Amino acid sequence: MAVFRHFSIFIGFLLFLFLFIPANSYAESGDTYEVGTTILNVREAPASNAKIIGLLSNGDKVVAFQEKYGWIQTYYGGEAAWIAKHHLIRTSSSSEVNNSTNTSDTSVQAATGEITVTARSVNIRSGPGTNYAIIGGTQAGDTYNIVKTSDKWNQINLGNGSTGWIAGWLTNNATAAESDSTAEESSNTVSVSAKPVKQASNQSLTGYNIVLDPGHGGKDPGAIGLGGVYEKDFISSTASKVAQQLRNAGANVILTRAGDYFVSLNERARISNAYNTHAFVSLHYNAFPIISVNGVSTYYSSTSDKQLAREVQSYLASTVSLHNRGIMQGHYRVLRNSHAPSILLELGFITNPNDLSIIQTADYQNKVAQAVTNGLKNYFHN
Ligand SMILES: [Zn+2]
Repeated sequence: MAVFRHFSIFIGFLLFLFLFIPANSYAESGDTYEVGTTILNVREAPASNAKIIGLLSNGDKVVAFQEKYGWIQTYYGGEAAWIAKHHLIRTSSSSEVNNSTNTSDTSVQAATGEITVTARSVNIRSGPGTNYAIIGGTQAGDTYNIVKTSDKWNQINLGNGSTGWIAGWLTNNATAAESDSTAEESSNTVSVSAKPVKQASNQSLTGYNIVLDPGHGGKDPGAIGLGGVYEKDFISSTASKVAQQLRNAGANVILTRAGDYFVSLNERARISNAYNTHAFVSLHYNAFPIISVNGVSTYYSSTSDKQLAREVQSYLASTVSLHNRGIMQGHYRVLRNSHAPSILLELGFITNPNDLSIIQTADYQNKVAQAVTNGLKNYFHN
């Protein structure tokens, strides 16, 4: 049994390494990433259907300890956690982790009951104060169970195993007349002023090379929505309708994927850069742990692409019935690496029952195609 004993000692040694070497000692050699999207789920395992254990927001930094299937492993609340690499931007600096741990606040009190959001749009934060990271958003009418209160802030249960904090004065639980932060707390979305239905330019898209980028595919299903639907499936059917209408308008359309297979983000940008591309349009559907969050938005990375985002979003707003979330800056890798004017469309939430019932119709997807085509015509000709 000597062999077995040596083996046990060896396993014991490995366990010792695993348990007692602080995780931070690997941070210096690990790559640092920055979150490049408004909200990013932190999951228990490297899969889109794994349990969500937390949320990160734009600009949060994470250190990668390993990479697997397009996911990076980091630590969240002291536990191993996984984040989709898709929405992360690699930063040159190393070992700087933004820990948004809650401070021990002596005024924290356990609380029970429900609160309802009364302000139009309210930030959900990682701690009880405006200095904490925004980890999500909520809107008037949303109701949550209170976990505890701290000063004028309420910790709420987000219903997916995680919690967040919202300002009490923006809910029906307002305990004090405090309004100095109201503007800041209730303005987390950038809205495009609602324009009247625009006249599309009559000019064609002949001579324009449009790279259409259907997100995800193959082993990467993208977000998973209500009833287990896959983001990638809605994207594929939408992309073929958008491609068709762009071609009808005279454009030369290049697709970064034309079936259900995996294409890396670098490859998508490489395809765009290999042509004399006039516009790069990435198609996605959105997901969020809070079921009431809904609507369509257009992201741009470089300020020079803001006008393209504006044109397409204004046509989306006037063409489809979904809520207009406006344009937002988001430093998605695929947008940063593509040299042509580039935008990323989030065409509705597959986690919202109303959005989901609409976005799977051919009528909706044809309207999206019409809006993208008209937005591009206006961008090139006005
Ligand atoms: Zn996506």
